[in-house]
Amino acid sequence: MATEHTLSIIKPDATARNLTGKINAKFEEAGLRIVAQKRIHLTKAQAGEFYKVHAERPFYDELCTFMASGPVVVQVLEGEGAIAKNREVMGATNPADAEPGTIRAEFAESVGENSVHGSDAPETAAEEISYFFAGIEVVG
Ligand code: ADP
Ligand code: MG
Repeated sequence: MATEHTLSIIKPDATARNLTGKINAKFEEAGLRIVAQKRIHLTKAQAGEFYKVHAERPFYDELCTFMASGPVVVQVLEGEGAIAKNREVMGATNPADAEPGTIRAEFAESVGENSVHGSDAPETAAEEISYFFAGIEVVG
């Protein structure tokens, strides 16, 4: 398994509850290294561009409003098979279905306000990382 980079976002429901450190500890305990990180406040338009793949879904407007409702922490995680590993650490989209011990099982409030985003494939990871970070900001 190759070393990969994946894009993670700690969402507004989690930053509001001061959970950044607890969530970062989950990544580090799983062997993922935080190689870039910044706290930003997205506009609704920026959230809409990031989630444009979901533009036709019924929850798109709600998702974009939520993602612009408070600060987020955007991060690049590095590790062996980091994309799949991060998805494991996150847990299922709906916290009711998430495995015990995962971030979403422990912290998510609902299927929408579910504390974290993680890229789902190598192509989307590369695209999502470049949406937020210049190459010079990713320090492994
Ligand atoms: P994931 O974040 O696990 O990759 P998706 O890519 O399917 O999940 O959806 C993106 C985000 O849209 C989810 O993390 C969640 O915040 C929101 N979302 C997904 N499904 C719903 C839903 N049924 N109702 C409200 N929000 C949803
Ligand atoms: Mg997704």
